[in-house]
Amino acid sequence: MPATRPPSFVDVAIIGAGAAGVAAARALGGAPLDVVVLEARDRIGGRAHTVDMDGSGLDMGCGWLHSADENVLAALAEDEGFSLDRTPPPWRSQAFNHEMSPDDQAAFGESFAAFEDRVAEAARRGEEGPAAALFDPDGRWNGRIDAISGALNGARFAEVSIRDYDAYRDTGVNWRVVDGYGRLVEHLGSSRPVVFDCPVSRIDRSGPTLRLDTARGRVEARAVILTVPTSLLATETIRIDPPVPDLLEAVSGLPLGLASKLHMTVAGADDFPPDSQLWGRRDTADTAGYHLRPFGRPMIEAYFGADLAWGLEREGEAAFFAFAADELAALLGFGIRRRIAPVATSLWGADPWARGAYSHALPGHADDRARLKIPIENRIFLAGEATSEIFYGTAHGAWIEGERAAREALTAFGLDGFGRQREGEP
Ligand SMILES: Cc1cc2nc3c(=O)[nH]c(=O)nc-3n(C[C@H](O)[C@H](O)[C@H](O)COP(=O)(O)OP(=O)(O)OC[C@H]3O[C@@H](n4cnc5c(N)ncnc54)[C@H](O)[C@@H]3O)c2cc1C
Repeated sequence: MPATRPPSFVDVAIIGAGAAGVAAARALGGAPLDVVVLEARDRIGGRAHTVDMDGSGLDMGCGWLHSADENVLAALAEDEGFSLDRTPPPWRSQAFNHEMSPDDQAAFGESFAAFEDRVAEAARRGEEGPAAALFDPDGRWNGRIDAISGALNGARFAEVSIRDYDAYRDTGVNWRVVDGYGRLVEHLGSSRPVVFDCPVSRIDRSGPTLRLDTARGRVEARAVILTVPTSLLATETIRIDPPVPDLLEAVSGLPLGLASKLHMTVAGADDFPPDSQLWGRRDTADTAGYHLRPFGRPMIEAYFGADLAWGLEREGEAAFFAFAADELAALLGFGIRRRIAPVATSLWGADPWARGAYSHALPGHADDRARLKIPIENRIFLAGEATSEIFYGTAHGAWIEGERAAREALTAFGLDGFGRQREGEP
């Protein structure tokens, strides 16, 4: 039900139609409240975005239902008729044992597990600092471990808090939405009152109602659910007036790292096992991961993280393919260059409504996620992947947080979780 103009007065304005905003809008759907979702883009989904290639969905942002056996969106997807693919991810393997014998792969796995154990022990002791401080100083796999950090955190372990990394909950079960994770989020938001191309630049909280400056005029709201990425709050692309120092401090401790995807077609794909993985180099963190034949398709999905991704983005879109072609040629021989072609490349760092991929807590900032979700005057409620303490950086984390913010807004209006008037409330 896309609207073209925002109403001038609402009870609740939800800013952002990503996973958190859609979840909040659905949770408020049954309440006797006027709700609008104000979205800067011309689409629903935010960092959940699927593009079409000959009928197949290619995810440019989230692709995996992490902790799928507990993931609220996995259940919802099936309820809504979306098919899930339960093939386990190949991330820990190396196709053809290229430059990594089975013994090497086992040794790397043990080394990564030992590193995570040291992180967990340090967190239990209440220690904080950069997770990289817990690398084995003589470890031969530190480069590869940091390459994985690029994919997991969008940043190197030197920039990642020990306690925050340890707090992340991963059940080790990962599934995919066959048609695309972005399409799922878009579908879930499709019946909500979203106003597109409507960036909000300022929330004036000086009066009895909140006044929002948007590209489509002024909106007054009794409450706001604010779901934009931390990068945009830190740079005050969207400004709260008067500023909230606690919030600004918290977002600066939770910057967005970068992860980038490049989808390529590959001719003669039958040479590759379906859903297998190749990592580029073993001796450096500046290397990409290559998912061969995702869903069995004749494609390769390359994944670039952290400094490597930021650097390639600065060089321009073509740099991702050039880098991937060089790494794949080194692994598979020169002939692969003629067989691959780029189809779609994500540029989340340059994206004005994202400015990064997902949040990590800087060393010393593990508590900032909890700080960020403290409501402001019981009428501005923050939500999004960054406010999730255990599922941060994910779409289902954002979803759960959107629902949490909606419950808090309902409570502020004296309504219960089903939108009914609470007993004794006016
Ligand atoms: C490459 C990549 C791979 C990923 N892989 C996975 C994965 O496999 N599994 C997983 O679970 N997660 C993954 N994620 C993370 C996941 O996509 C995000 O954590 C999640 O989608 C964030 O949802 P959100 O609602 O918090 O924020 P967003 O999706 O960013 O939503 C915020 C919305 O606010 C809008 N907005 C911004 N500024 C304004 C403004 N001023 N006014 C109005 N609207 C505004 C934005 O356009 C956006 O639509 C990945 C992300 C990336 C980038």
